Amino acid sequence: MSETLTQALVNLAYVVAASLFIFGLKLLSHPRTAVRGNLLGASGMLLAIVVTLLDRHIVGFELIIAGFVIGGAIGATLAARIPMTAMPQLVALFNGFGGAASAVVAGAALIDPTLQPEVAPGVREITLQFSIATVFSGLIGAVTFWGSLVAFGKLQGLITEKPVLLPGRHAINLLLLLGSLALGALLVGAPQEFWLYWAVVAAASLLGVLLVIPIGGADMPVVISLLNSYSGLAAAATGFVLNNNALIISGSLVGAAGLILTNLMCKAMNRSLPNVLFGGVGAVVATAQEQEDIYAGKVKATSPEEVAMLLEGARRVVFVPGYGMAVAQAQYAARDLYQLLESKGIEVEFAIHPVAGRMPGHMNVLLAEVDIPYDKLKGLEESNALFPQTDVVIVVGANDVVNPMARDVNDPSNPIAGMPILEVDKAKTVVVIKRSLSPGFAGIPNPLFAADNTLMLFADAKQALTEIVAALKES
Ligand code: NDP
Repeated sequence: MSETLTQALVNLAYVVAASLFIFGLKLLSHPRTAVRGNLLGASGMLLAIVVTLLDRHIVGFELIIAGFVIGGAIGATLAARIPMTAMPQLVALFNGFGGAASAVVAGAALIDPTLQPEVAPGVREITLQFSIATVFSGLIGAVTFWGSLVAFGKLQGLITEKPVLLPGRHAINLLLLLGSLALGALLVGAPQEFWLYWAVVAAASLLGVLLVIPIGGADMPVVISLLNSYSGLAAAATGFVLNNNALIISGSLVGAAGLILTNLMCKAMNRSLPNVLFGGVGAVVATAQEQEDIYAGKVKATSPEEVAMLLEGARRVVFVPGYGMAVAQAQYAARDLYQLLESKGIEVEFAIHPVAGRMPGHMNVLLAEVDIPYDKLKGLEESNALFPQTDVVIVVGANDVVNPMARDVNDPSNPIAGMPILEVDKAKTVVVIKRSLSPGFAGIPNPLFAADNTLMLFADAKQALTEIVAALKES
Protein backbone atom coordinates (compact mmCIF):
# COMPACT_ATOMS: atom_id res chain seq x y z
CA MET A 1 0.00 0.00 0.00
CA SER A 2 1.38 3.43 -0.90
CA GLU A 3 2.53 5.72 1.91
CA THR A 4 -0.10 8.38 1.02
CA LEU A 5 -2.94 5.85 1.06
CA THR A 6 -1.79 4.48 4.44
CA GLN A 7 -1.69 8.01 5.86
CA ALA A 8 -5.19 8.74 4.51
CA LEU A 9 -6.53 5.54 6.12
CA VAL A 10 -4.79 6.33 9.42
CA ASN A 11 -6.30 9.81 9.45
CA LEU A 12 -9.71 8.42 8.56
CA ALA A 13 -9.49 6.04 11.53
CA TYR A 14 -8.52 8.99 13.76
CA VAL A 15 -11.57 10.95 12.56
CA VAL A 16 -13.78 7.96 13.43
CA ALA A 17 -12.08 7.73 16.87
CA ALA A 18 -12.57 11.47 17.46
CA SER A 19 -16.26 11.19 16.49
CA LEU A 20 -16.64 8.32 18.97
CA PHE A 21 -15.07 10.52 21.72
CA ILE A 22 -17.47 13.36 20.95
CA PHE A 23 -20.62 11.19 20.77
CA GLY A 24 -19.40 9.39 23.91
CA LEU A 25 -19.12 12.72 25.75
CA LYS A 26 -22.60 13.72 24.60
CA LEU A 27 -24.07 10.46 25.94
CA LEU A 28 -22.16 10.89 29.22
CA SER A 29 -24.22 13.99 29.95
CA HIS A 30 -27.25 11.90 31.00
CA PRO A 31 -27.27 9.07 33.59
CA ARG A 32 -29.47 6.89 31.38
CA THR A 33 -26.99 6.95 28.48
CA ALA A 34 -23.75 7.39 30.46
CA VAL A 35 -22.65 3.74 30.38
CA ARG A 36 -23.10 3.62 26.59
CA GLY A 37 -21.20 6.92 26.31
CA ASN A 38 -18.34 5.48 28.33
CA LEU A 39 -18.18 2.40 26.08
CA LEU A 40 -18.25 4.54 22.94
CA GLY A 41 -15.38 6.73 24.20
CA ALA A 42 -13.36 3.66 25.21
CA SER A 43 -13.92 2.05 21.78
CA GLY A 44 -12.68 5.28 20.16
CA MET A 45 -9.53 5.12 22.27
CA LEU A 46 -9.01 1.42 21.43
CA LEU A 47 -9.29 2.21 17.71
CA ALA A 48 -6.85 5.11 18.04
CA ILE A 49 -4.32 2.97 19.94
CA VAL A 50 -4.53 0.03 17.50
CA VAL A 51 -4.12 2.31 14.47
CA THR A 52 -1.19 4.12 16.09
CA LEU A 53 0.50 0.81 16.90
CA LEU A 54 0.10 -0.40 13.31
CA ASP A 55 1.13 2.92 11.79
CA ARG A 56 4.22 3.73 13.83
CA HIS A 57 6.51 0.95 12.62
CA ILE A 58 6.89 -0.48 16.11
CA VAL A 59 10.22 -2.25 16.54
CA GLY A 60 9.08 -4.72 19.18
CA PHE A 61 5.84 -5.31 21.05
CA GLU A 62 7.43 -6.92 24.15
CA LEU A 63 7.76 -3.70 26.17
CA ILE A 64 4.37 -2.42 25.04
CA ILE A 65 2.64 -5.65 26.09
CA ALA A 66 4.54 -5.71 29.40
CA GLY A 67 3.49 -2.10 30.08
CA PHE A 68 -0.08 -2.89 29.10
CA VAL A 69 -0.28 -5.91 31.41
CA ILE A 70 1.43 -4.31 34.43
CA GLY A 71 -0.32 -0.92 34.04
CA GLY A 72 -3.68 -2.58 33.37
CA ALA A 73 -3.35 -4.78 36.47
CA ILE A 74 -2.43 -1.81 38.70
CA GLY A 75 -5.27 0.32 37.23
CA ALA A 76 -7.89 -2.42 37.55
CA THR A 77 -6.90 -3.27 41.14
CA LEU A 78 -6.93 0.41 42.16
CA ALA A 79 -10.29 1.09 40.51
CA ALA A 80 -11.91 -2.00 42.06
CA ARG A 81 -10.51 -1.44 45.57
CA ILE A 82 -10.89 2.31 45.97
CA PRO A 83 -13.92 3.36 48.01
CA MET A 84 -16.31 5.77 46.27
CA THR A 85 -15.42 8.42 48.87
CA ALA A 86 -11.75 8.36 47.80
CA MET A 87 -12.52 8.84 44.10
CA PRO A 88 -11.21 12.45 43.93
CA GLN A 89 -7.75 11.27 45.07
CA LEU A 90 -7.75 8.54 42.45
CA VAL A 91 -8.71 11.01 39.72
CA ALA A 92 -5.91 13.30 40.95
CA LEU A 93 -3.39 10.45 40.55
CA PHE A 94 -4.70 9.58 37.08
CA ASN A 95 -4.37 13.22 35.98
CA GLY A 96 -0.88 13.39 37.45
CA PHE A 97 0.31 10.28 35.62
CA GLY A 98 -1.20 11.63 32.38
CA GLY A 99 0.80 14.83 32.79
CA ALA A 100 3.99 12.91 33.64
CA ALA A 101 3.55 10.63 30.60
CA SER A 102 3.21 13.66 28.30
CA ALA A 103 6.36 15.29 29.72
CA VAL A 104 8.40 12.08 29.52
CA VAL A 105 7.28 11.22 25.97
CA ALA A 106 8.08 14.76 24.76
CA GLY A 107 11.52 14.53 26.43
CA ALA A 108 12.16 11.16 24.78
CA ALA A 109 11.22 12.58 21.37
CA LEU A 110 13.72 15.39 21.85
CA ILE A 111 16.53 12.94 22.57
CA ASP A 112 15.62 10.19 20.07
CA PRO A 113 15.91 11.42 16.45
CA THR A 114 13.69 8.58 15.15
CA LEU A 115 10.72 10.20 16.91
CA GLN A 116 11.33 13.58 15.32
CA PRO A 117 9.30 14.90 12.35
CA GLU A 118 10.27 13.82 8.82
CA VAL A 119 11.06 16.97 6.85
CA ALA A 120 11.95 15.06 3.64
CA PRO A 121 11.79 11.34 2.86
CA GLY A 122 14.18 9.68 5.31
CA VAL A 123 15.33 13.01 6.79
CA ARG A 124 14.28 13.77 10.35
CA GLU A 125 15.04 16.97 12.18
CA ILE A 126 13.77 19.24 14.92
CA THR A 127 11.26 21.78 13.57
CA LEU A 128 9.95 24.92 15.27
CA GLN A 129 6.53 23.29 15.90
CA PHE A 130 8.27 20.29 17.44
CA SER A 131 10.47 22.26 19.82
CA ILE A 132 7.75 24.69 20.94
CA ALA A 133 5.30 21.81 21.54
CA THR A 134 8.01 19.93 23.47
CA VAL A 135 8.50 22.90 25.80
CA PHE A 136 4.76 23.15 26.50
CA SER A 137 4.47 19.40 27.03
CA GLY A 138 7.26 19.45 29.59
CA LEU A 139 5.99 22.59 31.31
CA ILE A 140 2.30 21.71 31.57
CA GLY A 141 3.00 18.01 32.15
CA ALA A 142 5.32 18.71 35.09
CA VAL A 143 2.93 21.24 36.67
CA THR A 144 0.13 18.68 36.33
CA PHE A 145 2.16 15.81 37.80
CA TRP A 146 3.44 17.62 40.87
CA GLY A 147 0.25 19.63 41.42
CA SER A 148 -1.76 16.39 41.30
CA LEU A 149 0.58 14.65 43.73
CA VAL A 150 0.13 17.49 46.22
CA ALA A 151 -3.67 17.34 45.71
CA PHE A 152 -3.56 13.58 46.29
CA GLY A 153 -1.45 14.03 49.43
CA LYS A 154 -3.85 16.61 50.84
CA LEU A 155 -6.99 14.54 50.25
CA GLN A 156 -5.34 11.34 51.47
CA GLY A 157 -4.24 13.11 54.67
CA LEU A 158 -0.53 12.58 53.90
CA ILE A 159 0.10 16.33 54.04
CA THR A 160 -1.84 19.08 55.77
CA GLU A 161 -5.19 20.00 54.23
CA LYS A 162 -4.72 23.57 55.42
CA PRO A 163 -3.44 26.19 52.99
CA VAL A 164 0.35 26.53 53.30
CA LEU A 165 0.88 30.23 52.65
CA LEU A 166 4.52 31.07 51.89
CA PRO A 167 5.44 34.76 52.09
CA GLY A 168 5.75 36.27 48.58
CA ARG A 169 4.24 33.15 46.99
CA HIS A 170 2.60 35.01 44.11
CA ALA A 171 5.93 36.64 43.16
CA ILE A 172 7.78 33.31 43.46
CA ASN A 173 5.20 31.57 41.26
CA LEU A 174 5.35 34.33 38.67
CA LEU A 175 9.16 34.13 38.64
CA LEU A 176 9.03 30.34 38.23
CA LEU A 177 6.57 30.63 35.35
CA LEU A 178 8.62 33.32 33.59
CA GLY A 179 11.81 31.35 34.36
CA SER A 180 10.47 28.16 32.79
CA LEU A 181 9.20 30.07 29.75
CA ALA A 182 12.63 31.73 29.36
CA LEU A 183 14.40 28.35 29.62
CA GLY A 184 11.88 27.03 27.08
CA ALA A 185 12.69 29.88 24.70
CA LEU A 186 16.40 29.03 25.03
CA LEU A 187 15.60 25.40 24.24
CA VAL A 188 13.67 26.39 21.11
CA GLY A 189 16.79 28.32 20.00
CA ALA A 190 19.17 25.44 20.85
CA PRO A 191 17.19 22.16 20.80
CA GLN A 192 20.32 20.01 20.99
CA GLU A 193 20.88 21.29 24.57
CA PHE A 194 18.75 18.59 26.22
CA TRP A 195 19.58 19.79 29.71
CA LEU A 196 17.47 22.89 29.05
CA TYR A 197 14.42 20.63 28.68
CA TRP A 198 15.00 19.06 32.08
CA ALA A 199 15.58 22.55 33.53
CA VAL A 200 12.12 23.57 32.21
CA VAL A 201 10.66 20.42 33.79
CA ALA A 202 12.41 21.10 37.12
CA ALA A 203 11.18 24.72 37.32
CA ALA A 204 7.66 23.66 36.31
CA SER A 205 7.69 20.84 38.90
CA LEU A 206 8.44 23.35 41.66
CA LEU A 207 5.72 25.60 40.25
CA GLY A 208 3.23 22.69 40.35
CA VAL A 209 3.92 22.10 44.04
CA LEU A 210 3.81 25.79 44.96
CA LEU A 211 0.60 26.42 43.00
CA VAL A 212 -1.38 23.73 44.85
CA ILE A 213 0.13 23.81 48.35
CA PRO A 214 -1.56 27.16 49.28
CA ILE A 215 -4.98 25.77 48.40
CA GLY A 216 -7.16 24.38 51.21
CA GLY A 217 -8.55 20.84 51.18
CA ALA A 218 -12.12 22.08 50.64
CA ASP A 219 -11.14 23.57 47.29
CA MET A 220 -9.25 20.48 46.14
CA PRO A 221 -12.04 19.13 43.89
CA VAL A 222 -11.96 22.32 41.83
CA VAL A 223 -8.17 22.11 41.61
CA ILE A 224 -8.35 18.46 40.54
CA SER A 225 -10.79 19.34 37.79
CA LEU A 226 -8.44 22.13 36.65
CA LEU A 227 -5.45 19.75 36.72
CA ASN A 228 -7.53 17.34 34.65
CA SER A 229 -7.85 20.10 32.08
CA TYR A 230 -4.06 20.71 32.23
CA SER A 231 -3.38 17.00 31.68
CA GLY A 232 -5.46 17.27 28.49
CA LEU A 233 -3.49 20.31 27.33
CA ALA A 234 -0.20 18.50 28.01
CA ALA A 235 -1.44 15.52 25.96
CA ALA A 236 -2.50 17.84 23.12
CA ALA A 237 0.98 19.45 23.16
CA THR A 238 2.54 15.97 22.99
CA GLY A 239 0.22 15.30 20.03
CA PHE A 240 1.94 18.20 18.24
CA VAL A 241 5.35 16.80 19.24
CA LEU A 242 4.54 13.37 17.74
CA ASN A 243 2.37 14.74 14.94
CA ASN A 244 -0.44 12.53 16.16
CA ASN A 245 -3.93 13.90 15.39
CA ALA A 246 -5.77 11.51 17.73
CA LEU A 247 -3.69 12.74 20.67
CA ILE A 248 -4.24 16.39 19.72
CA ILE A 249 -8.03 15.91 19.50
CA SER A 250 -8.44 13.79 22.65
CA GLY A 251 -6.13 16.10 24.62
CA SER A 252 -8.14 19.15 23.53
CA LEU A 253 -11.40 17.44 24.50
CA VAL A 254 -10.05 16.65 27.98
CA GLY A 255 -8.70 20.21 28.27
CA ALA A 256 -12.07 21.75 27.37
CA ALA A 257 -14.16 19.31 29.46
CA GLY A 258 -11.96 19.93 32.53
CA LEU A 259 -12.33 23.70 32.14
CA ILE A 260 -16.13 23.47 31.80
CA LEU A 261 -16.39 21.30 34.93
CA THR A 262 -14.06 23.67 36.83
CA ASN A 263 -16.32 26.56 35.93
CA LEU A 264 -19.48 24.69 36.99
CA MET A 265 -17.94 23.75 40.36
CA CYS A 266 -16.82 27.33 41.02
CA LYS A 267 -20.37 28.51 40.33
CA ALA A 268 -21.83 25.87 42.69
CA MET A 269 -19.57 27.17 45.48
CA ASN A 270 -20.10 30.82 44.49
CA ARG A 271 -16.35 31.31 44.09
CA SER A 272 -14.29 32.71 41.27
CA LEU A 273 -11.45 30.58 39.93
CA PRO A 274 -8.80 33.19 40.92
CA ASN A 275 -10.25 33.14 44.44
CA VAL A 276 -9.95 29.34 44.60
CA LEU A 277 -6.40 29.38 43.19
CA PHE A 278 -4.94 32.40 44.93
CA GLY A 279 -7.33 33.12 47.82
CA GLY A 280 -5.66 30.76 50.29
CA VAL A 281 -9.11 29.93 51.68
CA GLY A 282 -9.23 26.61 53.42
CA ALA A 283 -9.79 24.15 56.18
CA VAL A 284 -10.86 26.21 59.17
CA VAL A 285 -11.65 24.19 62.23
CA ALA A 286 -14.50 25.27 64.47
CA THR A 287 -13.37 25.99 68.01
CA ALA A 288 -15.21 24.43 70.94
CA GLN A 289 -16.31 27.91 71.98
CA GLU A 290 -17.83 28.68 68.56
CA GLN A 291 -19.75 25.41 68.65
CA GLU A 292 -20.91 26.05 72.22
CA ASP A 293 -22.19 29.54 71.28
CA ILE A 294 -24.34 28.15 68.52
CA TYR A 295 -25.59 24.86 69.96
CA ALA A 296 -25.77 25.26 73.75
CA GLY A 297 -29.22 24.35 75.05
CA LYS A 298 -30.86 24.58 71.61
CA VAL A 299 -30.27 21.18 70.03
CA LYS A 300 -33.22 18.75 70.19
CA ALA A 301 -32.45 15.04 69.79
CA THR A 302 -35.05 12.66 68.39
CA SER A 303 -35.55 8.91 67.92
CA PRO A 304 -36.39 6.70 64.90
CA GLU A 305 -39.86 6.08 66.38
CA GLU A 306 -40.58 9.81 66.68
CA VAL A 307 -39.41 10.38 63.10
CA ALA A 308 -41.64 7.52 61.91
CA MET A 309 -44.63 9.24 63.57
CA LEU A 310 -43.75 12.52 61.87
CA LEU A 311 -43.54 10.80 58.51
CA GLU A 312 -46.89 9.09 59.03
CA GLY A 313 -48.56 12.50 59.08
CA ALA A 314 -46.59 14.01 56.18
CA ARG A 315 -47.83 14.65 52.65
CA ARG A 316 -44.54 15.72 51.12
CA VAL A 317 -41.08 14.46 52.20
CA VAL A 318 -37.70 15.42 50.73
CA PHE A 319 -34.43 13.56 51.30
CA VAL A 320 -31.21 15.59 51.25
CA PRO A 321 -28.26 13.21 50.89
CA GLY A 322 -24.68 14.25 51.64
CA TYR A 323 -21.23 12.83 52.21
CA GLY A 324 -22.37 10.88 55.30
CA MET A 325 -24.78 8.83 53.17
CA ALA A 326 -21.82 7.74 51.05
CA VAL A 327 -19.70 6.89 54.10
CA ALA A 328 -22.50 4.88 55.72
CA GLN A 329 -23.50 3.29 52.37
CA ALA A 330 -27.02 4.27 53.41
CA GLN A 331 -28.44 4.57 49.89
CA TYR A 332 -30.09 1.12 50.11
CA ALA A 333 -31.83 2.00 53.37
CA ALA A 334 -32.83 5.39 51.88
CA ARG A 335 -34.34 3.55 48.91
CA ASP A 336 -36.32 1.27 51.26
CA LEU A 337 -37.71 4.23 53.18
CA TYR A 338 -38.51 6.06 49.92
CA GLN A 339 -40.47 3.04 48.61
CA LEU A 340 -42.33 2.59 51.89
CA LEU A 341 -43.35 6.27 51.99
CA GLU A 342 -44.49 6.20 48.34
CA SER A 343 -46.55 3.08 49.05
CA LYS A 344 -48.34 5.13 51.71
CA GLY A 345 -49.22 7.79 49.11
CA ILE A 346 -46.66 10.32 50.37
CA GLU A 347 -44.92 12.46 47.73
CA VAL A 348 -41.15 11.91 48.00
CA GLU A 349 -38.25 13.63 46.26
CA PHE A 350 -34.46 13.85 46.60
CA ALA A 351 -32.83 17.29 46.65
CA ILE A 352 -29.32 17.12 45.21
CA HIS A 353 -26.73 19.84 45.79
CA PRO A 354 -24.12 20.06 43.00
CA VAL A 355 -21.19 19.68 45.45
CA ALA A 356 -22.80 17.26 47.94
CA GLY A 357 -20.41 14.41 48.74
CA ARG A 358 -16.85 14.43 47.55
CA MET A 359 -17.09 14.58 43.77
CA PRO A 360 -19.41 16.05 41.16
CA GLY A 361 -22.39 13.76 40.65
CA HIS A 362 -21.52 11.70 43.76
CA MET A 363 -25.09 11.55 45.07
CA ASN A 364 -26.58 10.89 41.62
CA VAL A 365 -24.29 7.87 41.21
CA LEU A 366 -25.22 6.43 44.62
CA LEU A 367 -28.94 6.92 44.09
CA ALA A 368 -28.79 5.53 40.54
CA GLU A 369 -27.06 2.46 42.02
CA VAL A 370 -30.24 1.72 44.00
CA ASP A 371 -32.58 2.52 41.10
CA ILE A 372 -34.16 5.70 42.45
CA PRO A 373 -36.01 7.04 39.36
CA TYR A 374 -34.02 9.89 37.82
CA ASP A 375 -37.03 12.23 37.76
CA LYS A 376 -37.16 12.04 41.57
CA LEU A 377 -33.77 13.78 41.82
CA LYS A 378 -34.22 17.53 41.89
CA GLY A 379 -31.56 20.22 41.55
CA LEU A 380 -30.85 23.19 43.78
CA GLU A 381 -33.28 25.78 42.44
CA GLU A 382 -36.19 23.43 41.92
CA SER A 383 -35.82 22.00 45.43
CA ASN A 384 -35.48 25.41 47.08
CA ALA A 385 -38.71 26.57 45.46
CA LEU A 386 -40.59 23.66 47.07
CA PHE A 387 -39.10 23.50 50.60
CA PRO A 388 -41.73 25.88 52.05
CA GLN A 389 -44.41 23.36 50.94
CA THR A 390 -42.50 20.38 52.38
CA ASP A 391 -43.63 18.72 55.62
CA VAL A 392 -40.48 16.80 56.49
CA VAL A 393 -36.94 17.11 55.14
CA ILE A 394 -34.64 14.20 56.02
CA VAL A 395 -31.00 15.30 55.83
CA VAL A 396 -28.94 12.12 55.44
CA GLY A 397 -25.31 12.85 56.37
CA ALA A 398 -25.23 16.28 54.70
CA ASN A 399 -23.86 19.32 56.48
CA ASP A 400 -22.17 22.12 54.50
CA VAL A 401 -24.69 21.99 51.67
CA VAL A 402 -27.53 22.84 54.10
CA ASN A 403 -25.58 25.28 56.29
CA PRO A 404 -27.43 28.64 56.58
CA MET A 405 -24.07 30.26 57.50
CA ALA A 406 -23.50 30.45 53.74
CA ARG A 407 -25.87 33.42 53.78
CA ASP A 408 -23.41 35.32 55.98
CA VAL A 409 -21.44 36.88 53.15
CA ASN A 410 -19.83 39.63 55.21
CA ASP A 411 -17.54 37.41 57.30
CA PRO A 412 -14.24 37.12 55.39
CA SER A 413 -13.25 34.00 57.38
CA ASN A 414 -16.44 32.15 56.37
CA PRO A 415 -15.27 29.46 53.91
CA ILE A 416 -18.75 28.88 52.48
CA ALA A 417 -19.86 32.55 52.29
CA GLY A 418 -22.23 32.98 49.37
CA MET A 419 -22.30 29.30 48.44
CA PRO A 420 -25.81 28.49 47.22
CA ILE A 421 -27.33 26.02 49.71
CA LEU A 422 -30.38 23.80 49.92
CA GLU A 423 -32.67 25.95 52.06
CA VAL A 424 -34.07 23.08 54.12
CA ASP A 425 -34.68 25.39 57.08
CA LYS A 426 -37.72 26.69 55.18
CA ALA A 427 -39.50 23.32 55.47
CA LYS A 428 -41.97 22.60 58.30
CA THR A 429 -39.71 20.08 60.06
CA VAL A 430 -36.11 19.09 59.39
CA VAL A 431 -34.69 15.79 60.62
CA VAL A 432 -30.88 15.69 60.46
CA ILE A 433 -29.31 12.23 60.59
CA LYS A 434 -25.63 12.29 61.57
CA ARG A 435 -23.56 10.80 64.36
CA SER A 436 -22.66 13.96 66.30
CA LEU A 437 -22.48 17.73 66.05
CA SER A 438 -19.12 17.49 64.24
CA PRO A 439 -18.65 19.93 61.38
CA GLY A 440 -18.59 18.91 57.72
CA PHE A 441 -15.86 19.38 55.13
CA ALA A 442 -15.65 23.18 55.55
CA GLY A 443 -14.97 22.77 59.29
CA ILE A 444 -17.57 25.24 60.57
CA PRO A 445 -20.57 24.83 62.91
CA ASN A 446 -24.06 24.63 61.44
CA PRO A 447 -26.85 26.76 62.99
CA LEU A 448 -29.42 24.52 61.26
CA PHE A 449 -28.82 21.92 63.99
CA ALA A 450 -29.99 24.44 66.61
CA ALA A 451 -32.97 25.77 64.65
CA ASP A 452 -36.47 25.58 66.18
CA ASN A 453 -37.81 23.31 63.44
CA THR A 454 -34.83 20.91 63.46
CA LEU A 455 -34.64 17.50 65.15
CA MET A 456 -31.30 15.71 65.37
CA LEU A 457 -31.21 11.94 64.98
CA PHE A 458 -27.72 11.07 66.23
CA ALA A 459 -26.81 7.78 64.57
CA ASP A 460 -25.05 6.17 61.66
CA ALA A 461 -27.16 7.00 58.58
CA LYS A 462 -27.74 3.40 57.51
CA GLN A 463 -28.71 2.27 60.98
CA ALA A 464 -31.03 5.26 61.52
CA LEU A 465 -32.86 4.83 58.22
CA THR A 466 -33.24 1.08 58.78
CA GLU A 467 -34.72 1.74 62.22
CA ILE A 468 -37.13 4.35 60.83
CA VAL A 469 -38.31 1.82 58.23
CA ALA A 470 -38.83 -0.80 60.97
CA ALA A 471 -40.73 1.69 63.15
CA LEU A 472 -42.94 2.75 60.23
CA LYS A 473 -43.74 -0.87 59.39
CA GLU A 474 -44.71 -1.55 62.99
CA SER A 475 -46.99 1.45 63.30
P1 NDP B 1 -20.14 17.49 54.67
O1 NDP B 1 -18.74 17.05 54.48
O2 NDP B 1 -20.40 18.92 54.89
O3 NDP B 1 -20.78 16.73 55.93
C1 NDP B 1 -20.87 15.36 55.98
C2 NDP B 1 -21.45 14.96 57.32
O4 NDP B 1 -21.67 13.57 57.25
C3 NDP B 1 -20.51 15.20 58.48
O5 NDP B 1 -20.87 16.36 59.20
C4 NDP B 1 -20.63 13.90 59.32
O6 NDP B 1 -21.11 14.21 60.61
C5 NDP B 1 -21.66 13.09 58.57
N1 NDP B 1 -21.32 11.67 58.54
C6 NDP B 1 -20.14 11.08 58.33
N2 NDP B 1 -20.24 9.75 58.44
C7 NDP B 1 -21.53 9.49 58.71
C8 NDP B 1 -22.27 8.29 58.94
N3 NDP B 1 -21.68 7.09 58.91
N4 NDP B 1 -23.59 8.39 59.19
C9 NDP B 1 -24.19 9.60 59.25
N5 NDP B 1 -23.55 10.76 59.05
C10 NDP B 1 -22.23 10.70 58.79
O7 NDP B 1 -20.98 16.90 53.46
P2 NDP B 1 -21.90 17.62 52.38
O8 NDP B 1 -22.22 16.55 51.39
O9 NDP B 1 -23.01 18.35 53.03
O10 NDP B 1 -20.99 18.72 51.73
C11 NDP B 1 -19.93 18.42 50.86
C12 NDP B 1 -18.74 19.26 51.23
O11 NDP B 1 -17.60 18.71 50.58
C13 NDP B 1 -18.86 20.69 50.76
O12 NDP B 1 -18.16 21.54 51.64
C14 NDP B 1 -18.15 20.65 49.40
O13 NDP B 1 -17.67 21.91 49.01
C15 NDP B 1 -17.02 19.69 49.70
N6 NDP B 1 -16.52 18.93 48.59
C16 NDP B 1 -17.32 18.64 47.54
C17 NDP B 1 -16.87 17.87 46.51
C18 NDP B 1 -17.72 17.58 45.34
O14 NDP B 1 -17.27 17.73 44.21
N7 NDP B 1 -18.94 17.13 45.59
C19 NDP B 1 -15.53 17.27 46.58
C20 NDP B 1 -14.78 17.56 47.81
C21 NDP B 1 -15.30 18.39 48.74
P3 NDP B 1 -20.82 13.22 61.85
O15 NDP B 1 -19.36 13.01 61.90
O16 NDP B 1 -21.38 13.94 63.02
O17 NDP B 1 -21.58 11.93 61.56
